[in-house]
Amino acid sequence: MDSADVVIVGGGIVGSSIAYHLTAAGCGNVLVIERESAQGKGSTGKSMGGMRAQFSTPVSIRMSLYSIPFYASFEERLGHPADYRPQGYLFCATSEKHLAYLRANQEKQIALGLKNVRMVSAEEIRRQFPRLRADDIVGGSFCPTDGFVDPYSAMIGFMTWAADHGAKLWKNTRVTDIRRDAQGIAAVETSRGTVATRAVVNAAGPWAAEVAAMAGVDLPVEPLRRMLVPTEPFDQFPHTSPMIIDMSNGFHFRPEALGFLLAWNDPEEKPGFKTDFDPAFIEKILTRAADRVPVFENLAVNPKRAWAGLYEMTPDHHPILGPAPGVPGLFLANGFSGHGVMHAPATGKILSDLILTGKTDLVDVSLLGLARFAENRLIEETAVL
Ligand SMILES: Cc1cc2nc3c(=O)[nH]c(=O)nc-3n(C[C@H](O)[C@H](O)[C@H](O)COP(=O)(O)OP(=O)(O)OC[C@H]3O[C@@H](n4cnc5c(N)ncnc54)[C@H](O)[C@@H]3O)c2cc1C
Repeated sequence: MDSADVVIVGGGIVGSSIAYHLTAAGCGNVLVIERESAQGKGSTGKSMGGMRAQFSTPVSIRMSLYSIPFYASFEERLGHPADYRPQGYLFCATSEKHLAYLRANQEKQIALGLKNVRMVSAEEIRRQFPRLRADDIVGGSFCPTDGFVDPYSAMIGFMTWAADHGAKLWKNTRVTDIRRDAQGIAAVETSRGTVATRAVVNAAGPWAAEVAAMAGVDLPVEPLRRMLVPTEPFDQFPHTSPMIIDMSNGFHFRPEALGFLLAWNDPEEKPGFKTDFDPAFIEKILTRAADRVPVFENLAVNPKRAWAGLYEMTPDHHPILGPAPGVPGLFLANGFSGHGVMHAPATGKILSDLILTGKTDLVDVSLLGLARFAENRLIEETAVL
């Protein structure tokens, strides 16, 4: 029978970052199990690659304050590019309520150590982006170290480093069951046989609830379809622009290759494992795009290049991290609610700390435990795009 010190279920960016952090901390026998023939076929390969510290809760902000410098120095640390582009996030407020919200968030971010986030006036936004329709914009907030990464490249970088330093990756292998004994976790059953282990990490992305159920754990993580529309090459808006968020309706966009990548959270979307792209979405999003950026009326879109993936949603839009109550040896790294790429470095560090030493000083991890739902201690993150 095979054995491992730690088995990680799922080889997306979260499982890969955990494998990297465990291996870098000296854990010699880490096994990542991925059911697909290649990594990145889950949410990671569908991501928009956005990364920001502009959140509303201390725990989300702290996770970004670890992750952003990590991505900025990724190539030096791992010898592999993550393609960090610090072009910033610009939130554009269209009401005094939104502006007060951004100001309150900014105060929290600065208090926690983010140096360069600042409020911007409507006039400054108008000056910098004259092609934005700004008649209703009352101001905003901007952080220049927010930006974008290449999720696929970062995932491969994490896993390659881990594999070069002793971790193993089994592709084409499905975890089918998790076995327990009197001590806790005893083994995982896979399509390639049984693996004896005392520690299992659930890093199964949108499929996390299914994997948790194998160990008898009820996990409130639901898949929610999310669609992205890349445009054809377009040069009538600057390619140096940040991620720009229209707070009146949540529409946001960023430069991507020679065109732009358009995103909008359709409130009509219902939870479920739907990954087909709905062509009707194109008109919905282009209407919002042209409303905020009138020259976007001239955008060309090839529907065949648009795609859909799954967010892994929790009821309070924070991840569920740490040991599963009542199942010694089972660890959860799930429910990133749209932030799993940007928070993968922090998650890897937190999980590695918890598995190897039983504690972490990166965040107060009791806030993120599964027990918060049963104990009614939800910590709502409202800055969700
Ligand atoms: C359209 C879209 C845009 C997004 N934009 C952003 C963004 O801008 N910034 C950001 O930070 N996040 C973004 N996200 C969210 C982000 O992509 C996810 O939170 C992140 O990729 C989750 O990574 P993961 O490794 O947990 O999951 P995944 O990448 O889904 O990996 C989980 C893996 O587990 C495997 N697996 C599942 N069950 C089993 C099993 N039984 N046995 C073996 N393997 C199994 C799956 O095959 C999969 O490869 C976006 C998501 C989508 C869909």
